[in-house]
Amino acid sequence: MVLKFNDHLLPALPIMEDLPLDRIVGITSTIPIEIVFAAGYIPIDLNNIFICDRHAYKMVEDAESAGLPRNTCAWIKGIFSAVRKYHIQKVVSVIQGDCSNNQALMEVFQSEGIETIPFAYPHSNADQRFLHNQLLSLADNLEVDYSRAEEMKERLDAIRAKVHEIDRLTWVANTVTSEENHIWTVSTSDLMGDYNVFEERAARFLKLVQGREFIQHDLRIGVVGIPPICEDLYPFLSSIGAHVVFNEIQRQFSMPYPTKTLIEQYSRYTYPYDIFSRVEDIQQAIPQRGIKGLIHYVQSFCHRHIHDRIIRKHIQLPILTLDCDRPGSLDGAMKTRIEAFIEMLKYHESETPVESGRR
Ligand code: SF4
Repeated sequence: MVLKFNDHLLPALPIMEDLPLDRIVGITSTIPIEIVFAAGYIPIDLNNIFICDRHAYKMVEDAESAGLPRNTCAWIKGIFSAVRKYHIQKVVSVIQGDCSNNQALMEVFQSEGIETIPFAYPHSNADQRFLHNQLLSLADNLEVDYSRAEEMKERLDAIRAKVHEIDRLTWVANTVTSEENHIWTVSTSDLMGDYNVFEERAARFLKLVQGREFIQHDLRIGVVGIPPICEDLYPFLSSIGAHVVFNEIQRQFSMPYPTKTLIEQYSRYTYPYDIFSRVEDIQQAIPQRGIKGLIHYVQSFCHRHIHDRIIRKHIQLPILTLDCDRPGSLDGAMKTRIEAFIEMLKYHESETPVESGRR
């Protein structure tokens, strides 16, 4: 398994069996975890514990055996099985701004006696009143004073700053690998349930990479779209000379913008809103990070696949759309397509005069 969260260099995946069940709040996507932590609960991103499970593939099959349709996204099936496997009793479901499947999944959980708390992002990030009401409602549901969540934001901002530095070292200093970047940024959705341990590990990681050699690579690329379900995409890209210097959505999980309030923070977070704020973010990253091509990762059976057309229309770079269904390794056909794409970009690079010296 490629997501070795328990590697001493990486965030610590929580040992679920050791956690007090009545304090766990499963989350189906990034939500304001400041509120969850402030209420004394342990947020656990169900996507993370699913994909890091040694039996992730079987968890998808188990969900199908339990009646979830085969032509549903594997992340949804993995979340379903993670809740069952770890007997999670309380789940915050993002019913607007993430995935239309979550509404039905929430109802499945309700039918099984699991407490569910709906959370909805507004349709537009300009609708701050709607967002504020949702934040207050979540705080009410978890019985915590909202002002304590704003205080928690300050604490988590300091921790997220360490991840922003890890991200910066990926594209400025070239001392953090694509895969490490992916794992650190994707883990910020729940800070692995323990922000103190997460911070301590991040500080240790930053210290370790100080003495590292630069990563040698032939090409800088970006991966946009939801975090890939396939386990070996990043090592494979590294093995063929491609350094991923931008993981779009994972970076968004880390709340990359300086903000003063939770409303501001969750309004600037691009993932739940329309594709155009995402396109703007990608457009800024391309010249800043010296990106020469993009892989647009799309999940089989996901409505977000439709965005591919808009991304291609607005981003003036070669784009490879990669579609995966289940956890596991890239198959031969996928590897061939990726290799051909990277070779094409390298060829194009060798034919193009170097402008900035950033290679
Ligand atoms: S990949 Fe798409 S379909 Fe699957 S959970 Fe995420 S948003 Fe929903």
